[in-house]
Amino acid sequence: MMIDQRTRKRLFETVANRVIASADELTDLDRAIGDGDHGTNMRRGFEAVLAAADELSAKSLGDSLKGVGTTLVMKVGGASGPLYGTLFLSLGKSLADEVSREQVADAFASAIDAVKARGKSDVGQKTMLDVFCPVLGVLRAGGDDLPGRLKVTAKLAAEKTIPMRAIRGRASFLGERSIGHMDPGARSSALIVDAVADVMEGFG
Ligand code: ADP
Ligand code: MG
Repeated sequence: MMIDQRTRKRLFETVANRVIASADELTDLDRAIGDGDHGTNMRRGFEAVLAAADELSAKSLGDSLKGVGTTLVMKVGGASGPLYGTLFLSLGKSLADEVSREQVADAFASAIDAVKARGKSDVGQKTMLDVFCPVLGVLRAGGDDLPGRLKVTAKLAAEKTIPMRAIRGRASFLGERSIGHMDPGARSSALIVDAVADVMEGFG
């Protein structure tokens, strides 16, 4: 598929608007097991992405994704800023405007590895990785109604963090008391996947 300038702009705007609209929900989740700033952190970052959407999408897909990554590193802050920044910077390194599903899956796999290295974290530790990894599995497998299945997978994966005990990030300070709450970063990741899948559905 060809991810042209119009599609890039739609992608960045759809993702940014979804995160901004969900800031209160993310903050509530972070209030339960963190310091209550995930929504404001993410809103600040994605408001900057939204403001720069025209300028960013005028660049190649790779450069525009790197631009999103740099913006998130500069604006989000907290633990999630550098991690989301790493994800988008890494995606930008390997994606060309014309990409196959396999190439997107390979790029996403490398980006997940970069996040793991940056966060010294892995799947099963109640973080955003618990959404990224199952989403990668579905993306890699392909098949019918891929956007719809990506959405369901992301939503369920975020919900599956509820019974987990946090091993990384601020929530890990709570130990057993982190059990019973959804991880805010897993939820924000699911929202981003959902927004990307909405744009994919528009491809027809
Ligand atoms: P902070 O924890 O510094 O307040 P945020 O509230 O913005 O930062 O982000 C918290 C989210 O970041 C967590 O819910 C989790 O998903 C993610 N996170 C934190 N540390 C790590 C890590 N080491 N690896 C992967 N994700 C992490
Ligand atoms: Mg926080």
